[in-house]
Amino acid sequence: MTDTKLSAEQGEAFAVRCRAFLTEHAKPGRRSSIPAAKEFQGKLADAGLAGLTFPKQYGGAGLTSEHERIWRSAAAEFPPMTSAFIISHGMCLPMLNEFGTDDQKQRFLADNIAARTMWCQMFSEPGAGSDVASLQTKAERDGDEWILNGQKVWTTLAHESDYGILIARTDPEQTKHAGISMFILDMRAPGVEIRPIHQIDGGRHFNEVFFTDVRIPVDNLVGEYNNGWRQATAMLMYERVAIGSAGSGAVSQPMYDVLLAAARSAGRVDDPVVRDQLMEIYSMETTKSLVAMRTRAEMKAGKAPGPGGSLGKLYGSVISWRFREIAMEIAGAGSQAWDPTNGRAGDLQTTVIGSFSSSIAGGTDEIQRNIIGDRVLGLPRDISVDSGVPFKDLKLAATR
Ligand SMILES: Cc1cc2nc3c(=O)[nH]c(=O)nc-3n(C[C@H](O)[C@H](O)[C@H](O)COP(=O)(O)OP(=O)(O)OC[C@H]3O[C@@H](n4cnc5c(N)ncnc54)[C@H](O)[C@@H]3O)c2cc1C
Repeated sequence: MTDTKLSAEQGEAFAVRCRAFLTEHAKPGRRSSIPAAKEFQGKLADAGLAGLTFPKQYGGAGLTSEHERIWRSAAAEFPPMTSAFIISHGMCLPMLNEFGTDDQKQRFLADNIAARTMWCQMFSEPGAGSDVASLQTKAERDGDEWILNGQKVWTTLAHESDYGILIARTDPEQTKHAGISMFILDMRAPGVEIRPIHQIDGGRHFNEVFFTDVRIPVDNLVGEYNNGWRQATAMLMYERVAIGSAGSGAVSQPMYDVLLAAARSAGRVDDPVVRDQLMEIYSMETTKSLVAMRTRAEMKAGKAPGPGGSLGKLYGSVISWRFREIAMEIAGAGSQAWDPTNGRAGDLQTTVIGSFSSSIAGGTDEIQRNIIGDRVLGLPRDISVDSGVPFKDLKLAATR
């Protein structure tokens, strides 16, 4: 990425180009489906507007982070079309770009950018979520391949993905953070079994993924052997930034919009208490947008995503908690229940039910608070009982 400054005319010309594309292709819809998102992204790639800051030689547009900012700002005026790619583009793409070999970038980046392939992240396991370094899925070397056995869980869009970025234990003789490596996994490889997890809202976004003697070519190791924890940490930071700064192109208040509509349909928009609550959410979301813009601006200035990304991630969850309470006050049980014979859940119910996941996905609130305490505020770290102990000697909650 060459970050030469754009003149005002160049910036305006690029904004016009972005808006012209968006006017033609970003069509309003209740929720962007995956086929619609892929089609949109394919057109974006054809127009030279996909993967804006990624190198041209790997299928990106080779433009600057200022172009990226202009794009985000223009896209914020249109319906979101590519939310389905938050993991594929927000996490897997920057990881491959930062840690992939030249060969891996040649093989995978262009297809990822144009959404000809979709990617998922496989970190969490039944006994390894917050403490993901306790993972027990193992990869053992056999000639030119690794043999993978174990299980992942909560893998968002595994069933729609062509590839996944996975961490596995490669040396149980080492301490738990040391003997981990990162791999690219072909989701259609023999021995990969994907089972859906059915959600309360009727959706099916994530899965359990089982591995039985799955063969991974040695060329699919990402970064150094047994150094996967460093990359895993980088990916988690990309994740927090991707979640915490979603919609950072402009100041926006999506939950306020949902509550305002609910207050109108309940005939309570003139109620001074409700008005007060609406403004509370409005102010919180405005603040979150501004923090997200600051995070993006720091990245634009060349700063790698750091623990500060946890602030935006946590604040999103704090807003969700308050949103649910206000939704309940405005609409009562109707804020989360609907008559299934009378159609699907509306925006209010979907947002209320979906909001619970914001306290868990991408690291729980407690974990974000720990990170902010340790690494932003410099408070003493939690006591670690397993430092220096080889992984094979640890007593884990769910030893397999
Ligand atoms: C919508 C959604 C999508 C997801 N998508 C993916 C995905 O694509 N890929 C993937 O790998 N994972 C995914 N996850 C999994 C997610 O990362 C984990 O659920 C999360 O990290 C928490 O792990 P856990 O569920 O095992 O809970 P646990 O780690 O068992 O935590 C249980 C409780 O204990 C608390 N706790 C644990 N440790 C501490 C501590 N040290 N201090 C204080 N409190 C603590 C937690 O805060 C929590 O309240 C997804 C989860 C959700 C909800």
